[in-house]
Amino acid sequence: GGFQAMGLSPSIFRAVLRKGYKVPTPIQRKSIPVIMDGRDVVAMARTGSGKTAAFLIPLLEKLKIHSPDKSPRAIVLSPTRELALQTYGFVRDLARFTDLNTTIILGGDRMEDQFEALHQKPDIIIATPGRLLHVLVEMNLQLSFIEYCVFDEADRLFEMGFEEQLKEVIHRMPSSRQTLMFSATLPKSIVEFAKGGLSDPVLLRL
Ligand code: AMP
Repeated sequence: GGFQAMGLSPSIFRAVLRKGYKVPTPIQRKSIPVIMDGRDVVAMARTGSGKTAAFLIPLLEKLKIHSPDKSPRAIVLSPTRELALQTYGFVRDLARFTDLNTTIILGGDRMEDQFEALHQKPDIIIATPGRLLHVLVEMNLQLSFIEYCVFDEADRLFEMGFEEQLKEVIHRMPSSRQTLMFSATLPKSIVEFAKGGLSDPVLLRL
């Protein structure tokens, strides 16, 4: 089965074609149906495997339409500015035929701009954890509407020392959320974190 067999809506399918993707990569073939099914996922996948689209395609598919009264509904946490910016570019591309709004919150950028961006009621936030938490605390913003939380490159998030911030961020989200974790490696610390933060996750290996 290709992307066609995955039951994507026309706006997402068109954007996938526009990106030039013809055949899903192995991690996409495995994870997209499981995520669309609503399951939590721990996926072992490296940069270059197509992991970003593997979590973004089903996420966009499920969010579907701009919902300003439930902002934000999805958060993607990245270990570095560079990865966050790259992921933001992917979201912009893959969501181009939808009306979903995305904001990026990065350490080093002006906080006033980030407050303003969150007032615009984005559906999706791409963020580095330290600054996201700082902005949430400053704005006294709850994350009551979160439906999807993605930990991208979880092993690097841990290496960068973000574990406590990650715990504080997910503490603000409803436990009914769907949580996805992508990591190149699965050290014990990540497995333990997954036991607390994810609910009955499907483990996907390449
Ligand atoms: P990632 O592992 O998410 O960093 O993606 C690595 C590269 O693979 C990026 O340049 C993507 O645009 C590209 N890519 C992702 N999925 C596909 C696909 N199904 N077909 C071709 N290229 C893809």
